[in-house]
Amino acid sequence: MSVALYTRISQDKTGERAGVERQAKECRELADRRGLTITHEYSDNDVSAYSGKRRDGFDALLRAVSTGEVDRVLVWHPDRLYRRSADLEKLINLVEQHNIKIVTVTAGDFDLNTATGRAVARTLVAWSGFEVEQKTDRQKSAYRQRAERGGWPFAHRPFGYQRVNGEIVQVPDEAAVLRDILSRYYEKLEPRHAIMRDLNQRGILTPRRKPWGIIQLRDVLTNDRYGGVVKHGDTVLDVKPSWEPIVDRDVWLGWRSRAAKRKRKSTFSSAKYLLTGIARCDVCGAVCFVKHRADGGRSYFCSDLGCVQRSVPAVDDLVERLVIGRLSMPDASQVFAPRNEDTADISREIEAKQARLDDMAALVADGTLSADAVRAEAKPLREQMERLRAVLAERQARATIPAELFQQHAGEAWDSLPLIRKRAVVSAIMRVSIGRQANPRIFDPEAVRIEWVSDAK
Ligand SMILES: [Zn+2]
Repeated sequence: MSVALYTRISQDKTGERAGVERQAKECRELADRRGLTITHEYSDNDVSAYSGKRRDGFDALLRAVSTGEVDRVLVWHPDRLYRRSADLEKLINLVEQHNIKIVTVTAGDFDLNTATGRAVARTLVAWSGFEVEQKTDRQKSAYRQRAERGGWPFAHRPFGYQRVNGEIVQVPDEAAVLRDILSRYYEKLEPRHAIMRDLNQRGILTPRRKPWGIIQLRDVLTNDRYGGVVKHGDTVLDVKPSWEPIVDRDVWLGWRSRAAKRKRKSTFSSAKYLLTGIARCDVCGAVCFVKHRADGGRSYFCSDLGCVQRSVPAVDDLVERLVIGRLSMPDASQVFAPRNEDTADISREIEAKQARLDDMAALVADGTLSADAVRAEAKPLREQMERLRAVLAERQARATIPAELFQQHAGEAWDSLPLIRKRAVVSAIMRVSIGRQANPRIFDPEAVRIEWVSDAK
């Protein structure tokens, strides 16, 4: 067996990680682990494979493969080899004539002799053409600076505080109410709805002299400033607040993190398969569930009309290879970095609908309304909430892509993730649709449509 090592430096922004030296070192380590002896070495320096410029090393490699001198190619990531489809197709042609395998450090092995291997390679090539969307740095730093000064800019005073001669000071009555309701909510886990009713029954008004609604109460219960915490996005800044907090900072952070854990638990179901409820039917758009076949195998199955069904292991294998391949690209940490600001509006909408449901439930409990009377109205509300929750879960999922997937070899990090995290990652980066196959007996990876979830909303 002859193994060729191919390295290429690209013009990626994460230059250091992808530098030729590092690529070569990691490739050699992998060769050692796998008992492969490197017999040929090729390298192209500082040339973008995407630009289509001449690559002498790559051409020499292709020649060595075509003469049968080499039957394994070792690269750091598949995109080192081919970033343009033309390069890939050249390689696929060669592979069809000579049985060669591609071994990569970051994304596992690629067998271009199989349909799945080729589909994965083609999809990765398509993806590597995307440009990274950069947020305007200026906008970011403006928010950060304001937060770092420990300020609390408000136009209407928040419950519990007022501004006196430019200073933010507590309103004693309201501060006492705050201490009471925060501990009831976080310590005794009293439902928001009950707290809201209690406040309104006691005649306690919002700063705008109105009765409490569930949204106003939610905003109060989750306002980090009451815990003296200054944040930028989801990052807690180590800044002293310019006001006296209602509760101790450590107590507050403990409350918030426990609440987040409780919420996370209820957000994700305990699915047993990677793509249950995630993959969609490409014919009718319904989600796919898993069906146990008579032969003992399992298939993803269109849950609505039964338009498509496809082997679970085959689809999972394809999707997992694509996830690993995509996340091990040098730009992945930039493309998939969590964004913090875009769930507030959806959360609000869900809260509002929940509040209406709660109100209706309370009216039924009071005997004001009959259960039958609210049922008709509650059903569409619940359905809308389900849809909103799905969107929210998807957006939150992006924030759950574990950092280790970017920091070490995505393949190994991926394998060690629990299924629930894998599902979150898949939903965060791609849409999977299962289409009809011409020949239902042989798995056709091209009949599984993968769309990359880009940053564009
Ligand atoms: Zn269908």
